[in-house]
Amino acid sequence: MLVGGVSLSLWFSLQVDIQNRDGMLKMHAEGARNGVKRHLAHYRTLVDKLARDPQLEDQFRFGEPLDQQAWVQSRQTLIPDLHGLTLLTPEGEILGDATTLRVGPKCRAELVSRNPLRGMRLHLQRGAAGREHVDLVSAVRGFDHELLGGVFLSMRLDALKRILDEAAYPGQTLTLLDEAGETVVSNGNGNGKASGAAREIRLDVGDAGWTLVARAPIQKLTYSGKVQIVAGSLTLLALLLLLGLGMLGLRRTMLRDIDATRDALTALARDEPVPPIVPHYAEFGQAVSDINLVALHLQEQRSRLEHLSLTDPLTGLPNRRAFETRFPQALGFAERGHRIALVLLDIDHFKRINDSHGHGVGDQVLLALAQTLRTLTRRADLAARLAGDEFAILLADLDAAGVALWCQRLIDHFSGELNALGLNQQTGISAGQTWLQGVPRDSMNQALARADRALYQAKERGRARLVFDAPAGEKNAG
Ligand code: GH3
Ligand code: MG
Repeated sequence: MLVGGVSLSLWFSLQVDIQNRDGMLKMHAEGARNGVKRHLAHYRTLVDKLARDPQLEDQFRFGEPLDQQAWVQSRQTLIPDLHGLTLLTPEGEILGDATTLRVGPKCRAELVSRNPLRGMRLHLQRGAAGREHVDLVSAVRGFDHELLGGVFLSMRLDALKRILDEAAYPGQTLTLLDEAGETVVSNGNGNGKASGAAREIRLDVGDAGWTLVARAPIQKLTYSGKVQIVAGSLTLLALLLLLGLGMLGLRRTMLRDIDATRDALTALARDEPVPPIVPHYAEFGQAVSDINLVALHLQEQRSRLEHLSLTDPLTGLPNRRAFETRFPQALGFAERGHRIALVLLDIDHFKRINDSHGHGVGDQVLLALAQTLRTLTRRADLAARLAGDEFAILLADLDAAGVALWCQRLIDHFSGELNALGLNQQTGISAGQTWLQGVPRDSMNQALARADRALYQAKERGRARLVFDAPAGEKNAG
């Protein structure tokens, strides 16, 4: 569209240029035509004025040839560009000496044969080169309008040529044609015939019966036209360059936004922190804020799922999976010399509660134990429900007495919770304990197996008690 617009404006400029050149040609032609008309009118007025000279009637009626010749000679010096001036008899004969009055034999013969006193039109005489002239005749009449004779004036063509020379613009040809289409005079040194294709204007030169022909060669382009084309092409080039640079800039900025979006989505897929996308384009704003919202929503959903996958749905305590996830960290502490106790708990005769009071009450008991565990564990500890009525607790930095005391407090607290549920004395807790081994490194299954053995012994010994896997105050041998 841009290219089309600039090309169109260029085309319009060229059309205006052509119209300007046509206008110039017409203007110069009209200037020349007016100049020629003024010049001819001037000589026509001159010859008419001479013909109305009051002395002329006496000259014609009573003058001697010598007087008549002297009258003519006295006027000759006053008229510029004059070729010849003389008085004529009504029959067209010259009064005085034709040679002195500069009237050639050809003119003389024609004056007699065609007697211009009847027509009085401009008459072109082509003599020898450089002596071409135009003859004008004006009748001289007496008091009663009778024809006494005429004034004959022949005007050189130099003045007309000067007018055309001055009016013509370089390259233009101005030619004056007579009635027969013969060249009267033309500007410059040419014969008025333009070579090659040319624009042409023809103008009538008043009642002279002549025509002015103005011709100018058809130039494909003027200098200003060429300048316009070059300027237009440069503008077009500059616009295309700007457009290209702009598009490159747009592409770079757009790619930055796309990269930021891709990075955010990749981070989202890898479950890494999602970098916020700051769009460079207002048009991207809505899409980017949608992506940011989706990322936030997904992250929330993921962390909720993770929480659910690690949480026991009934009690809200960490589940077996969470215990397995956290266990290596506890082992790490044990490796660094911390005393970490693993205690396995199991509710005694829990089935009976279910059976006699229903599962709902059984659930209440499980919740009561979970609440007790939450109350008695510290931030460094971990209490998890492994399955059914079985719970695992990791206690940090307690010796055997501390573990025994903790278990006692647990039993007491739990029995208080059972009282609140109206289940006094109906159940208790059995517990098996073992120490996590740092060196050699323990495994979770080994530690759980030891604690389970101890728990089994607690059940065996009558329930409602804590049994250590190793003698009190000692760490297991492994
Ligand atoms: P013991 O003293 O030997 O442990 O006897 P017990 O009756 O507790 O036996 P056991 O530990 O094997 O029984 C666990 C029972 O816990 C079996 C199951 O019906 C019940 N149970 C498991 N999960 C749930 C639960 O989410 N809610 C309830 N109400 N009961 C459960
Ligand atoms: Mg049980």
